[in-house]
Parts: sequence; structure tokens; C-alpha cells
Amino acid sequence: MSVTSLDNHLHRFCGGRYQQAVETVTIRLSGMSTEVERGLYRCGKCGDEQRTVEQREAAEKEALERIRAEHQLLAPREIRQLRDALGLTAAQVGELLYGVPKGVVEGWERGRYLQNREADALLRGLRDRATLERRAAKAGVTLPDPDLLSAIPAASASAPPTD
Ligand SMILES: [Zn+2]
Repeated sequence: MSVTSLDNHLHRFCGGRYQQAVETVTIRLSGMSTEVERGLYRCGKCGDEQRTVEQREAAEKEALERIRAEHQLLAPREIRQLRDALGLTAAQVGELLYGVPKGVVEGWERGRYLQNREADALLRGLRDRATLERRAAKAGVTLPDPDLLSAIPAASASAPPTD
């Protein structure tokens, strides 16, 4: 699909032309919010406003990155590295976080979703062996033998990047 642009596009209703404009919007994600500049097209004659899918998605992406930075949340690759280091599947990590669906954990790792502060703290907590073992016992997750895990070279322990 090509990028939609309405720049200088004729507004048939009034005969005016659409021009690029910017608005400040508050975007909420995972219980956190931030303000970003979002592009839009506004008819120079009647003031009608149109927002394309690309403009909405660009603003959502910027908001996600800004919120992650403001709250110092783990980056997608840090979540993946943590999971790889523990030798766990996405489903197992979800269970250790008290029932987060596997698809959500995968979404965090791909940067599609943003973990909230509570989930971020729980993820960080998995770095502590005692916490990890306590939660694994509670969730019924069998942890890989840490001695065995550390014997696996890092290169073969992680899957090749998909993108
Ligand atoms: Zn118009």
C-alpha cells in the first residue's frame, strides 16, 4: 500500500485544498499518557480536517517511545534478552507475570505493545534468582537448569532475528 497523502488535495465539497497541519494530542497507552505532535490535513477554505492512518500510526509510535523513555521501561530487545538469558518461552514469561498472555509478551518484544509499570517491575524482578524461583514455583513453571543454560553459547541460545 502506498503512503496516503492529502497534501494539496482538492476538497470537492468546497473547492478548497488540503494542507498539512499539526496538532498537539494526548495519547494514552497502558495507563500512561504523553503529549505528541500529530500531523493532519486541513482544508484551507472550510477548515475540514482529515487524519490518515499513517499520521495516526506515526503519532502512536512516537507516544509509545516517549512514554517508554519517560518511565524508563525496558526496551523490546531488553525483554527478549532477559527471556533468552533465562531460557524461557514467551508463554512461560507470561505465566511468571501472573497470567499475561503469550501474544502480549511477544508484542512487548516486538515493540507493538508497551508493558505498564507494574509489568515492567515484574519483568525486572525475574533477574533476581530467588524471586524467579519463587514465582516459578507458584506458577508451576519448570525453570531450565541454570548450570546447563550458562553452558550454551550465547549465539546458539537465541533464535536469529526475524526482521
Ligand atoms: Zn473544504
